[in-house]
Amino acid sequence: MVEWEFKRAVPTRCGGWEVKPLDNDQLERLRSYQMSLEEAKDSKISNPVFSKYHVRSCVVSSDKTRSRGGNIEYGLCQALHGEESVVVSFRDSHQGAFFSHPGVLGLIAGAPGNPATPCGNCRDILLDEFGTDFEVVSGAGEGGLALVVKFEDYLFDRFEKINQRDLADWINIKDLESLIKQGRRLEDIPYFDGKVHPERRYFAVVTGKNGKQYVGASEGLVDYHTNYALRDALRTMRKEGGFMPSDVIIIGESESNTPPHVMYKDRQHLLERIDRGIPLSGFGPELDVSVTLINVNPEKFSVVSAWQTSAREWLPMPFTPANLGSELNAHLKEYDEGKRALFDISDS
Ligand SMILES: [Zn+2]
Repeated sequence: MVEWEFKRAVPTRCGGWEVKPLDNDQLERLRSYQMSLEEAKDSKISNPVFSKYHVRSCVVSSDKTRSRGGNIEYGLCQALHGEESVVVSFRDSHQGAFFSHPGVLGLIAGAPGNPATPCGNCRDILLDEFGTDFEVVSGAGEGGLALVVKFEDYLFDRFEKINQRDLADWINIKDLESLIKQGRRLEDIPYFDGKVHPERRYFAVVTGKNGKQYVGASEGLVDYHTNYALRDALRTMRKEGGFMPSDVIIIGESESNTPPHVMYKDRQHLLERIDRGIPLSGFGPELDVSVTLINVNPEKFSVVSAWQTSAREWLPMPFTPANLGSELNAHLKEYDEGKRALFDISDS
């Protein structure tokens, strides 16, 4: 039997984590942690045809039902992740009804001592399907140190509220009406009626290093693989030759006193762009980008409420190219330098 030593990983600012002993509640769940990794290890679902990086998963629920998953790659470097497929398998094990609580999600991937860093899209599906009250344990197939992370530690919504009188210092609001009208024109979400999760509708404005502003809006497709607004703005920036954002504004058209809910998939795409831009721009790996979230009155175009965070703060323990190790990062740098030599990519 493979032996794992279980400890807890707790996120620190700027994407890092600290390893701590399990607390007393967690010590009572040792059997579930061990069971989730043993079952995940035996999963035969993963089929990573491009990356060859196997992620094997298993949820052990409160009634000790085990549901397995794994990553499946297809198309052109597309993937159904191990966290997504295990959600399907969990529903199947419970006949679609969530009468049993998803207690522990075990993941077998990588080397011992690395906590799981679920991608933004997986955080979105796990949040919606499993809620926040479960844990993710990550271990290597050969055993060794396995780290337990509370799922809520992968989430962040404790944004700092900005006083109305300080708003002018944070954002240039004189063009707000024009930016919102651009967002409305670009937005294409005919399958979204605004009744379920209205707070997830937002526009994104990315300012490039050249000072230009790029507006993005969500694009919903009949296959329900929506392209989100922040990703759209970053893509527009790249189309115009930029590669590094300098700040981001998220705009919700709402009188609400809670900020727009920016999908974790979108947060990840922002951080991926920053981490890809760092080797070319000469900034250090700690470079961060300010994010301001505002709610705007849709008739008056006046700011109702505003919050402040950053690209690293709102995505704890992220999955970005920086996680891939030195060999793959050297490849990415060489790839990007090659592109820059051939094309006009010049905004830093
Ligand atoms: Zn994922």
